[in-house]
Amino acid sequence: MNQRAKDLEDANRYKSEFLANMSHELRTPLNSMLLLSSSLSKVKDIEPGKLNKQASTIYDAGSSLLNLINDILDLSKIEANLMTLNIEEINISSLLYELKELFMPQADAKNIRLGSTIDASALIAFSSDKTKLTQVLRNFLSNAIKFTGNNGSISIEVAPNTEEDKNLRPIVISVIDNGIGIEEKNIGLVFEAFKQADGGTSRQYGGTGLGLSISKELTSLLGGRIVVKSIVSEGSTFSICLPIEIDTN
Ligand code: ADP
Repeated sequence: MNQRAKDLEDANRYKSEFLANMSHELRTPLNSMLLLSSSLSKVKDIEPGKLNKQASTIYDAGSSLLNLINDILDLSKIEANLMTLNIEEINISSLLYELKELFMPQADAKNIRLGSTIDASALIAFSSDKTKLTQVLRNFLSNAIKFTGNNGSISIEVAPNTEEDKNLRPIVISVIDNGIGIEEKNIGLVFEAFKQADGGTSRQYGGTGLGLSISKELTSLLGGRIVVKSIVSEGSTFSICLPIEIDTN
């Protein structure tokens, strides 16, 4: 490796390590802010509603900041190669059950139907890193809920892969929604850090545009691939295709 390439690699590593350390340090004061504002929002208010409301605002602002910091920490850990895999046997039906339990309250709040199906010919157990896979599927589900209107429907489907990488990645888990959809020209864009399908999205729906960049990196750590199909005003399908076992060599 020539000197310039080595310098660049060092600079990149320092940047990632700096980001990882900084995000870590920011979380500690933020957590105490969250804890205190949460308890302040519940104490008996002298001027009814006022203090509680202000404390709730501090709590909400702190929570968004914490989400952003966690996302940056994840991305920088991935970049610095600090992510380690924790491989275990995963049972598909319990995974789907846990995900539905987690998202049912948010779906109920928008009166969205949240269902799941497992194709009879799909594999029902495989080994992977459950925490990382869950993080990807949680991102798909929270986007599906965010971008689907009231009374819509979302389903988590498990099916065998029929695409050309079917031997390498036989398992496909998809989150299908009938929400706003994504314009074809923007589908590639949504995986870039801080990018959203349209510039106005963040104002209308919130979010940082980091979730899918992280999901893409985590998926490739799992030996997987993400496939997106979407039609504007009809809905989107985000699928993760996975191997039965991760080749760690
Ligand atoms: P965030 O949701 O925080 O903006 P993501 O990286 O998870 O960040 O998503 C990036 C963008 O992709 C979103 O802002 C949205 O424009 C688009 N997107 C993701 N999922 C969906 C979906 N299910 N339906 C429509 N648009 C979506």
